[in-house]
Amino acid sequence: MVIKPKIRGFVCVTSHPEGCREHVREQIAYVKKQGHISGMPKKFLIIGSSTGYGLSSRVVATVGGQADTIGVFFERPEEDDRPASAGFYNARTLDEYAQQAGLVSESINGDAFSDTCKQRTIELIREKFGKVDAVVYSLASPRRIDPKTGETYRSLLKPIGQPFRGKTVNTDKKEVHEITIEPANEQEIYETIKVMGGEDWKLWMDALKSADVLSDGIQAWAYSYVGPEITWPIYTHGTIGKAKEDLERVSQVITDHLSDLHGKAFIVVNKAVVTQASSAIPVVPLYMAILFKVMKQKVLHENCIQQMDRLFRERLCGEKQMLHDAKGRIRMDDWEMRLDVQDEVKRIWPEITTENLEELSDFAGYQRDFLRLFGFGFDSVNYDADISLSI
Ligand code: NAD
Repeated sequence: MVIKPKIRGFVCVTSHPEGCREHVREQIAYVKKQGHISGMPKKFLIIGSSTGYGLSSRVVATVGGQADTIGVFFERPEEDDRPASAGFYNARTLDEYAQQAGLVSESINGDAFSDTCKQRTIELIREKFGKVDAVVYSLASPRRIDPKTGETYRSLLKPIGQPFRGKTVNTDKKEVHEITIEPANEQEIYETIKVMGGEDWKLWMDALKSADVLSDGIQAWAYSYVGPEITWPIYTHGTIGKAKEDLERVSQVITDHLSDLHGKAFIVVNKAVVTQASSAIPVVPLYMAILFKVMKQKVLHENCIQQMDRLFRERLCGEKQMLHDAKGRIRMDDWEMRLDVQDEVKRIWPEITTENLEELSDFAGYQRDFLRLFGFGFDSVNYDADISLSI
């Protein structure tokens, strides 16, 4: 079959197996070029490991640290004439690479929120590792089924307290327009915290600890975002911000629970990058297009793999590892939040319109990154070729 991108709003419903392979190969090549990372934990569990920050974390652990990894994700496998979702191919490519390199690299495709998935993971850790040295929590999901009650909760991206009125971009039509988003009610705030807050992270860490599969000195971290004032009404001060607040609170609770193992849980605040999760947030794609232009001009821009490589190499294992903010978080958004970068973004923001979108922002770069998430836009791939699935 010949596979072309089919974009529906902020998702692409097709993915290209060979392009996804190429995407992972590029990430592997990037980390290889940076060289070995010493002092890395040796056995990783990465929850949400098939795309975005979780995938790049797994690539850096595998390639930079020669670590053994177990990855957990939720991806659609291939059906008769329908390609799998991109993360399915990403995970398979990384597993193949790592296994050829003589490392343990195992994947679990299942609902991380469920007890069954946690149990399967624990059994696999026992079988392959004995214990894990690091747990990375990188889930981004629109919904969660509570394992105890069977109730489904939905995560919503809404402001709190008052409506949001502001600019956004329709990425399909390349149109900058005004939107109004009505504020969330109490139930919507509660549900977003249920999905994207810290409850599931804590359940994972409790289950792993009770099963005695965490090493002494265990490190566990989860990813968060802060961003500038432009995005606060919809992000930091919105429903997702409340969920992130909860995640941050839970990091302290987990640290307390890990004290007898001399372990620690912490939050890493990452930079805005194009992922399946971030492209679904109103306002953020327009902000990212402007940010990328400014950061590229200042030679400060990083994509997912560059950001994760710097995190592991310099902050988790290197000399600058003590650099935390007042809340104890590792700030990988340090370059994004630089005053000169944000002043420039702030200057461009009121001026941007549909007509000058390409000129004042890196919208082309945004779109390129978006297509690459699904395996499209790689020069080395022949997109007119007839391919059979399960390659
Ligand atoms: P993503 O959409 O690329 O990745 C989400 C991952 O979660 C995938 O591996 C997916 O398979 C997995 N997943 C989703 N639901 C699942 C389920 N029920 N069971 C198992 N796996 C499931 O998202 P991302 O942007 O890389 O986000 C990861 C984390 O990084 C999030 O906490 C996000 O808030 C944070 N973050 C993202 C950005 C950004 O700009 N993208 C910036 C800062 C922090």
